[in-house]
Amino acid sequence: MVEEHAARLRPKGKELVELLDSAGQVLAEPVLADRNFPPFPRATRDGYAVRSSDLAQLPATLSVVGEVKAGAPANAALQLNPGQAIAIMTGAPAPPGADAVVMIEYTSRNGDQVEITKGIAAGENIVPVGAEAKRAERLLSPGMRLDAAAIAVAASAGRSHLLVYSKPRVAVLATGDELVDIDVPPGPNQIRNSNSYSLAAQVQAAGGEPVLLPIAPDHPDRLRELIADGFEMDLLLLTGGVSVGKYDLVEQVLAEFQAEFFFTGAQIQPGRPVVFGRAPCRAGSSFGVSTRAREGEEHGFSRADKDAQTSGALAPEGHTYFFGLPGNPVSTMVTFELFARPMLEALAGLTPRKLVFLHAKLKSEIKTKPGLKRFLPAILSGEFEHSEVELVRWQGSGDMAATARANCYIVIPSDRERIEPGEWVPVLMR
Ligand code: AMP
Ligand code: MG
Repeated sequence: MVEEHAARLRPKGKELVELLDSAGQVLAEPVLADRNFPPFPRATRDGYAVRSSDLAQLPATLSVVGEVKAGAPANAALQLNPGQAIAIMTGAPAPPGADAVVMIEYTSRNGDQVEITKGIAAGENIVPVGAEAKRAERLLSPGMRLDAAAIAVAASAGRSHLLVYSKPRVAVLATGDELVDIDVPPGPNQIRNSNSYSLAAQVQAAGGEPVLLPIAPDHPDRLRELIADGFEMDLLLLTGGVSVGKYDLVEQVLAEFQAEFFFTGAQIQPGRPVVFGRAPCRAGSSFGVSTRAREGEEHGFSRADKDAQTSGALAPEGHTYFFGLPGNPVSTMVTFELFARPMLEALAGLTPRKLVFLHAKLKSEIKTKPGLKRFLPAILSGEFEHSEVELVRWQGSGDMAATARANCYIVIPSDRERIEPGEWVPVLMR
């Protein structure tokens, strides 16, 4: 459902960034090989460049006629003839005539002679010119996230700057009369707004730029104003106020914006009341950043100054998508991962991908009530083929402290009541 809508979204623009600042951004252009990779036949071991046919009889004694080290200037005179060897270092070009490099461990040098005790196949320990990539071949494709490996590739192709997609601006609106800002002393029956901060972190990790709006009380007028501000961003995330309580007003107020609701609830736990929809961008709206949105920036979560007038109006046919995420902190985090992240990644220009699930052996028994698919905070431990997973003990989907001790979620199918220790279970990484 979310994926269908995500497939229609396009990122809003591109910008040139320095390679050093590009980590985590989404590439917006292909990166091509500016030369052959490798540009010369590269030795991958320290040893001796040889003709493999000279090692048919062992041990073989060859005469050493020279040495090549990595980075040495090209020496046209260096040529390997039958019966000869050339000392060579890792990363150096194999000289003409050589078809393999014997590792130094299988050799013993005696003056200008070397004795070799192990045979070798042609091509061993030499990477031929262009074997990794030919000149002008595509090394990286648009839509990929720039991780360390991709950045290494760009650097090796001489790209000090890269074109990346502009980050979508994501409005984060926490709702609830009981909430106070984190820098305000809470009254005895108040709690601090933690969801805006967990969401800001998740938005950043997914490639977006969070813009924290002020807390909305459970009152339609103020909620309406703040939702209007939120719709001026590229995506609106609300938390709280989507259950069936008397003061859960979010859906009702969203409906006033001619919102279309694609779903209002999912058969999952935590996160059952999650809402997904979109509303038309308002005619005549400047799509600028309103005063209230800027208050969010003062919290240091947004660097909106560079394109303050260009935000909004990304969605096809002029819609802005929204998610009403349940207020329980763990529900907020899980529903972001499952539903909001794919939308945000599409806005950020990432090529769509499926959520990654691992499998691990269950350490201790799980009993649940069937009916809902569950995503329960858990700890994955162990190494390599011995990974084990077990639930953290928690007080339900409001228990952030337990979730902070967890490093993943165990996914429990909706038809299971009991899972035995030793069974392989799907795990969603955090
Ligand atoms: P709601 O979805 O509004 O019914 O809220 C469910 C639970 O989550 C309540 O216990 C709220 O106090 C709590 N909650 C709602 N919003 C937040 C927030 N922004 N930060 C921390 N807890 C919240
Ligand atoms: Mg509430």
